Amino acid sequence: MLAEVRPVENCLFCKIARGEIEADVAHRDDRVVAFHDLNPQAPVHVLVIPTRHIESLLELGPDDRDLVGHLHAVAAGLARELGIAESGFRVVINTNRDAGQSVPHLHLHLLGGRAMEWPPG
Ligand code: AMP
Ligand code: ZN
Repeated sequence: MLAEVRPVENCLFCKIARGEIEADVAHRDDRVVAFHDLNPQAPVHVLVIPTRHIESLLELGPDDRDLVGHLHAVAAGLARELGIAESGFRVVINTNRDAGQSVPHLHLHLLGGRAMEWPPG
């Protein structure tokens, strides 16, 4: 069995996806859940995750391309819904140590509602 299809009992974001840990859910469909970050870094800070456990961008399989597109489409839809589409927003995927990935379940950060700096810290 592939690692990414094995049920992951102790993964925080799998628990949120299964509804075992409470979250402020902004979107849910058959493949994706989005919820507001507990420690927001911008007025709008939403995490968009696949329901299925995928550890990081590095663990994507050849069949996941449509899922990756869907994660981004959900982020863009939420940017519109939450009123940050026109002013602008950033989508970030932290991967591994140097990027500061702290939860080993793939997630897109959707950030907006304030001006951001470049390059990121
Ligand atoms: P990263 O550091 O890129 O792995 O992002 C993990 C994000 O998950 C951080 O922005 C945390 O604030 C957020 N986070 C951790 N636990 C929770 C939780 N229970 N509900 C919502 N967001 C969380
Ligand atoms: Zn997980």
